Amino acid sequence: MLAGRYEGCEPLLQVGKSWCDQGDLREQMLDYSVNHLISRMSDNFLCFVPTDPLFVPNGEAILAAKEMLASLFPLAESIIATEHSDVAFIDAGENWDGVRCPMCKSDMEAWWNDAMSEAYKRKFSNLIVRTQCCEKSVSLNKLAYVWPVAFAKFVLEVMNPNVIRIEEKGLTRLSQILGCEIKEIIARV
Ligand SMILES: [Zn+2]
Repeated sequence: MLAGRYEGCEPLLQVGKSWCDQGDLREQMLDYSVNHLISRMSDNFLCFVPTDPLFVPNGEAILAAKEMLASLFPLAESIIATEHSDVAFIDAGENWDGVRCPMCKSDMEAWWNDAMSEAYKRKFSNLIVRTQCCEKSVSLNKLAYVWPVAFAKFVLEVMNPNVIRIEEKGLTRLSQILGCEIKEIIARV
């Protein structure tokens, strides 16, 4: 399962990224990732999360959203709703394509790794950071990620949906059902 892989630092795929500051753990992660890749083809995920990282829809809404997604993606391998106890980083796996400062546009990936490690220590309870490039306060959730990623307590995850992405009107409907603005993360692991 994609979501929650950062809880307990058990990422499936963080090759090339190193914001987890525990060296030996990183080695294990890489080993795991490589073995994982060798053992099977990659999986695709469509993840839908509230734009507010703390928002969790009510049970009825979640059930209705899952039903809607099941009808939209009848060939999907699974559709899973997860509520994390803390805010989780919802990453894009192999689709990761870097991060830039939304204010001054500079490449901030090296700094971001450290900022993520710090924020992870606080279980992402506070996402506000001060940028190194232009010394401004900003949320980690509002940086200019080249390929979308997100921070969220709640995630709806469609595994191998057999389509590239959801249509705009589907996204709008899902947002109405869940009662919040939502963001789509397209991930490959
Ligand atoms: Zn900047």
